[in-house]
Amino acid sequence: MSDKKVNEVIIIGSGPAGWTAALYLARANMSPIVYTGKQPGGQLTTTTEVENFPGFPEGRDGPELMMDMEKQAKRFGTEIIYKEVSDINFDARPFTMKAGDDEVSSHAIIIATGASPRMLGLESEQTFWNRGVHTCAVCDGGFYRGKTVAVVGGGDSAMEEATYLAKLCEKVYVIHRRDELRASKIMADRALGTKNIEFIWNSTVEEVTGDTSGNFPKTTGLKLKDTQTDESRSIDVDAMFLAIGHIPNTAFLNDKITLDDEKYIVVDERQQTNIAGVYAAGDVHDKVYRQAITAAGMGCKSALEVERYLTREGLAGE
Ligand code: NAP
Repeated sequence: MSDKKVNEVIIIGSGPAGWTAALYLARANMSPIVYTGKQPGGQLTTTTEVENFPGFPEGRDGPELMMDMEKQAKRFGTEIIYKEVSDINFDARPFTMKAGDDEVSSHAIIIATGASPRMLGLESEQTFWNRGVHTCAVCDGGFYRGKTVAVVGGGDSAMEEATYLAKLCEKVYVIHRRDELRASKIMADRALGTKNIEFIWNSTVEEVTGDTSGNFPKTTGLKLKDTQTDESRSIDVDAMFLAIGHIPNTAFLNDKITLDDEKYIVVDERQQTNIAGVYAAGDVHDKVYRQAITAAGMGCKSALEVERYLTREGLAGE
């Protein structure tokens, strides 16, 4: 994008919220541009089977579903740019933003940047990052075929990761800080009923241990602490997969938009942020439902609101 034309609307993010917003705006002839960010397709590209997106009675492969959403938005004229937006100036109209070397402007913005996996915050986690410390079983599980791995967390993601890894690995530990799972019953039962999954309750990971003498670090185990007795123990594992929730991708906003105390974007019932013409949709705002279908719904709402806003302000088709 080298020209200096003012775009009607820029959508930042390419998960279900971003693609749905683009689809609606493209069909309304609003010439949307999507900046995909560094993970085009968002979190569903790191999942396997999506069984709860209506319309697919047999389920759908996550990455395929996202590619179809992209194709559908593109079919009606969405422009797609595979770059990450790093900064936005909300102080002047039209808004201007930076993405790599691009400087682009638009009358309206939809922020749909989603959320990223939470880390434990251990130094050793960084030492062994991608060398036994991972956040996506579908992406990296294949490296540990026939080995022993651990999944940390007690939610649906942890159950999904553990069940997936159990098919590849000899043994999977699930390490959870409480003695009760947060996961839905169906996903919990599936993991609890899998023979090569062993649950380690009331435990946190204190350290990732391994060999750092070679060219590349190699994870060999975890040091755990019992949250009830404070006792430590070590287990041998070849990898640890973190599934302990997510952090909204709002750092690039530099607190220029109203965020809540967990850094999720605050919106009203129309997906409108505290700045007129700026909307937010999907996991970047939603910490309650966090589903593909709810994100898509918010993408739709924000697109309809952008259309109304641009028409009301006399900015449509400028
Ligand atoms: P989540 O439900 O927030 O669960 C996060 C888990 O990590 C919790 O068990 C939590 O423990 C634990 N945890 C958080 N911080 C931790 C820390 N610092 N150290 C150790 N443990 C920590 O997140 P999620 O599992 O990613 O699920 C997010 C949403 O996506 C949910 O609504 C879920 O239903 C949905 N989801 C659906 C599917 C599906 O249907 N196919 C698959 C994946 C996710 P506590 O329980 O003690 O808080």
